[in-house]
Amino acid sequence: MPYKLKNAVYSVRCRYPRCTFNSQFEIEQNIMGMTEQDVEIEAKRIARDMALTKHDAIHATRHTLRSPDIRKVSGSYELVGPVPRRGSGTTYGVAKQKDVYYKEYQRGEVILKKGDDATSVCEVVRGSAYPERNRSHRYRVGDSFGAAALLARHQRTCDVIAGSDGTKVAFYNLIELSKTNPKKAREMFSAVMEDTFKVIQNLEKSIDRTKKEIEREVVRG
Ligand SMILES: [Zn+2]
Repeated sequence: MPYKLKNAVYSVRCRYPRCTFNSQFEIEQNIMGMTEQDVEIEAKRIARDMALTKHDAIHATRHTLRSPDIRKVSGSYELVGPVPRRGSGTTYGVAKQKDVYYKEYQRGEVILKKGDDATSVCEVVRGSAYPERNRSHRYRVGDSFGAAALLARHQRTCDVIAGSDGTKVAFYNLIELSKTNPKKAREMFSAVMEDTFKVIQNLEKSIDRTKKEIEREVVRG
């Protein structure tokens, strides 16, 4: 049985030193999810997007709203009837399937936010995406990312940004997916592991480069 969030108000506070931005946002969208946690993640994402627009309209010349402190001020969860199964429509938007849901982004929009709670891994269905830390890297159609879902603490480790307008991303809940489609779950698991190794290799390369640069500086100095 999925949950719906009613009368949700979230407060969003900027963590930038000495920034006074601390605003409340009423979320009017009908947010549904299979668990309260799913709903909470989506509600926080919406609150953050609303806050970002308002914050940056005021403070963008100095800084942008990054990793803000987001809290629920009010709102209650309500149990609702079952979400339609895949193939019977309404798989779009915020009404989430248990095993997979889809979301669309415009170029530059944040798909995954560092520090967010995460229980799903992602696959690019249309368009492209890139990790904030490695802007030249591209996740293309069929590529997977979001290894945080495989980690014990379920925290996103890095921002991932949409690379083009209309980028569509599938979010898979691996635990649910292993029940409904074990083959796809295994596939996603190994794809995300591969991506993680690639990212680690890239980091090692950049550490090596830095080391060599430091050695050169030391020799010269
Ligand atoms: Zn600020």
